[in-house]
Amino acid sequence: MTQIFNFSAGPAVLPKDVLQQAASEMLDWHGSGMSVMEMSHRGPEFSSIHRQALDDLRELLHVPANYKILFQQGGGLGQNAIVPLNLAGRRPEPVIDFIHTGSWSGKSIKEAARYARVNVAASSEAEHFARVPARDTWRLTPNASYLHICTNETIDGVEYPDAPEIDPALFPDLPIVADMSSHILSREIDVSKYGVIFAGAQKNIGPAGLTLVIVREDLLDFASPQCPSVFHWKTCAEHDSLYNTPPTYSIYIAGLVFAWLKRRGGVAAMEALNIEKARLLYAALDADDFYANRVDPAYRSRMNIPFYLRDESLNDQFLAGAKARGLLQLKGHKSVGGMRASIYNAMPIEGVQALVDYLNEFARR
Ligand code: PMP
Repeated sequence: MTQIFNFSAGPAVLPKDVLQQAASEMLDWHGSGMSVMEMSHRGPEFSSIHRQALDDLRELLHVPANYKILFQQGGGLGQNAIVPLNLAGRRPEPVIDFIHTGSWSGKSIKEAARYARVNVAASSEAEHFARVPARDTWRLTPNASYLHICTNETIDGVEYPDAPEIDPALFPDLPIVADMSSHILSREIDVSKYGVIFAGAQKNIGPAGLTLVIVREDLLDFASPQCPSVFHWKTCAEHDSLYNTPPTYSIYIAGLVFAWLKRRGGVAAMEALNIEKARLLYAALDADDFYANRVDPAYRSRMNIPFYLRDESLNDQFLAGAKARGLLQLKGHKSVGGMRASIYNAMPIEGVQALVDYLNEFARR
């Protein structure tokens, strides 16, 4: 059988080891006689799975002690409402600052506008989202409730190289909220630079249905009275994410992914590999004007790499040939067209090499 490499943007490829382990434990987890799906979320078996996943994640991301890790539901789009419901009320006349760098921050802006006044402090829309707007052009609001950024735009392929610098003399209390859905755990981050980090699981963490939220403790309790209790961060934190039934099976798989990451050397080792994978792929795209990636190289995503064929009438032929070689789900997002290769942690370098070989061969042909 042809070896399959899955370049889906999400739900996305998971480590084969993890799927094999899950398969072997499907009917009987550790001699309990139960599948993880069948366990009470308050029983000792699931509690141990939950605790281990939290501990491993805290270790992998070096999450400081004054941050809570929450496992919620509702996905990235859910957090677009849950964040303003929890944080806008930090100010009597709330304003939320945004940096608009692509489709996902765009959606966040629209949703937040239902709950508070929004200020788009900078946007690269006029440049077709080819970069993160230069920091010195951002028009931040003094006293905004928070600043929202999307640190990796999954559709546009734009990634922040670092956490943005916010001068504490000018903005002494401006927490950054970061949507890291599509690159969490792919690179080292300094959690302490952020007030809140959130991520849907279905790209670099595990199955859909689980949403990771990391919240600095002093930001837990500003929710508006309208905020549903299950989404109130403080309630969720006080109940150790067990206020309502959490997505238990997704947490279990996420825990297996965290253990896999630790065995592979953690986030730093992953980052080194991700740098190499992205370098290989961009080099192939840049080598031939048959292909184009339109993002400023300083802001190119290591995880999601959109590209276009110069002759777009060949798109279907390109995709059919890729599929025949076991290179799956390379079609670009419908809003931007073209192609997209998502190369998350679980994509081995052999998969990237197979795609590069195909790119070269297709261009030659
Ligand atoms: N933010 C980003 C960066 C995303 O890539 C996605 C999903 N592709 C979302 C938010 C929305 O996530 P969900 O579908 O889980 O609501």
